[in-house]
Amino acid sequence: MTTPTRFLPSFGLALGVLALIAGCSQEAGDGKAAGGEKVVNLYSARHYDTDLPLYERFTRETGIRINRIEGNADQLIARMKAEGATSPADLFITADAGALWRAEQAGLFQPVESAVISERIPANLREPSGLWTGFMRRARVVAYDSAKVRPEEVDSYDKLAGPRFRGQICVRSADSIYNLSLVGALIEAWGPERAQAWTRGIVANMARPPEGGDRDQIRAVSAGVCQIALTNSYYYIRMASGDDAADKAVTDRVKLAFTSLDGQGAHVNISGGGVARGAPNKANAIRLLEFFTEAATQEHIARHNNEFPASPAVKAPEPVAAYANFAAHPMAVAAFARRQPEAQKMMSAAGWR
Ligand code: FE
Repeated sequence: MTTPTRFLPSFGLALGVLALIAGCSQEAGDGKAAGGEKVVNLYSARHYDTDLPLYERFTRETGIRINRIEGNADQLIARMKAEGATSPADLFITADAGALWRAEQAGLFQPVESAVISERIPANLREPSGLWTGFMRRARVVAYDSAKVRPEEVDSYDKLAGPRFRGQICVRSADSIYNLSLVGALIEAWGPERAQAWTRGIVANMARPPEGGDRDQIRAVSAGVCQIALTNSYYYIRMASGDDAADKAVTDRVKLAFTSLDGQGAHVNISGGGVARGAPNKANAIRLLEFFTEAATQEHIARHNNEFPASPAVKAPEPVAAYANFAAHPMAVAAFARRQPEAQKMMSAAGWR
């Protein structure tokens, strides 16, 4: 999700677009661009064509036009920092609580009080002071070779680090914020010593040095490189239900296990967003953030991007419905998001590249 597959095609164009946006927002701080048009400047690390109908619906329903600036999370955070007080950014959305925490640490958000967001989104999926909120969920769990591994061998995270899986784990690199967040959650649940031991166990169990993304790990299980892989749930669901015949065939034998942390459920992360500290169109930004938490929006993203709705009241559509009944650990996403620096040190010390 955070792969910069479609960052702006050229720096020159990027500057041009920014200049245009800055021009609009400086002329009017009331959410209206020159000429009275209502606008909102969305800095988005989401880069899916399937999101476009969402944006069109928002504009149809509210009359607010969305200017999108796309990039991966770190690029957009760097950009907002560089723009400083004159940033045209209104709303920043991205995947992973860890990325939202990085933006929070950089002072890029302002707290928002929204009764509809508080009502729709459970408290553990929001930053407590309102700086950011989740609107979709994903679990970081295990894909396993069902011919070699029994489901009960992968039903808890601590088992993955034991001798049963020596040389049998495929996992992406320590740079991956998904892994940082998972290790952060283990630190939060277990304390640093046990989390460090787990991290060393995972490194000892690696079938190969980390390479590729989560789907590559799942494919490697199918190819016999390893017996289990750590993956975000939506990658597996996309392979199992998508149009790629080879990927679909992989999931005939490779299955998904919702690994549990201390018997309390799978490690859950979010896609979410927060209103920019200096948002020139603040009211429109809040409206767009609330729009992301609407049931229809969550259903759309679940259907097309295979994440789970964050609201318990929103029924998961196909194809995610078949996977949606898993037990989710109730840990606050903000609690593990802030453990990234510790997790990074720990993984580095363990030799997780
Ligand atoms: Fe992703």
